[in-house]
Amino acid sequence: MYVFDAPAQPSLAVQGSEDRFPIRRIFCVGRNYEAHAREMGKDPTREAPFFFTKPADAALDTPCTIAYPKLTENLHHEIELVIAIGKEGSDIAEDEVMNHVWGAAVGLDMTRRDLQTEAKNAGRPWDWGKAFDQSAPIGAIKPIGDVPSISEGRIWLAVNGETRQDADLSDLIWSVREHVATLSRAMHLRPGDLVMTGTPAGVGSVGPGDVITGGVEGIGELEVKIGPRA
Ligand code: MN
Repeated sequence: MYVFDAPAQPSLAVQGSEDRFPIRRIFCVGRNYEAHAREMGKDPTREAPFFFTKPADAALDTPCTIAYPKLTENLHHEIELVIAIGKEGSDIAEDEVMNHVWGAAVGLDMTRRDLQTEAKNAGRPWDWGKAFDQSAPIGAIKPIGDVPSISEGRIWLAVNGETRQDADLSDLIWSVREHVATLSRAMHLRPGDLVMTGTPAGVGSVGPGDVITGGVEGIGELEVKIGPRA
């Protein structure tokens, strides 16, 4: 018995199914597109991939409306390919990674950019900038057998119909095989783990009333409305 009702298992929709994908953890790759590294003021040399996390219950199905989060005056959109892990493993070889991938989706790594910048400058953790409530709206997961490619295909985002991010998965600095292999050397990956693989250039702010649309070619699309302040 628990001392109070256990929280609901966070989960995401699956394309073409009533079944849902239970989420265990959400890992995110930092600065994984050259042009985005540049717009963040970083040298786009091939630094080793690095990661941060969001809580599993930061994820929510799309279409959805999210509250404009607390404490920020600069809420940014980051469109990302999301990889869903379906088989456990650690020290996974690059050519074995796809045997651990259950599916793929498109998601948003919503970011309180002002708090992230403040944390970076102070040498503090990024959590307040990245790991807040409703910070990971994610479209329905497509089973990997139906996914044409996780290494090429257009990735794009528009705000109120105006395109802001437009790139290709082939622009990833660290491919899915490379960064999932790297992640598996640090953590024992488990079914339900998600990996948000980084965002291309063109990040920018959104406010209450804005509508974000986006997608990854061959994988899925999403729509997220920004609601009133929380
Ligand atoms: Mn990101």
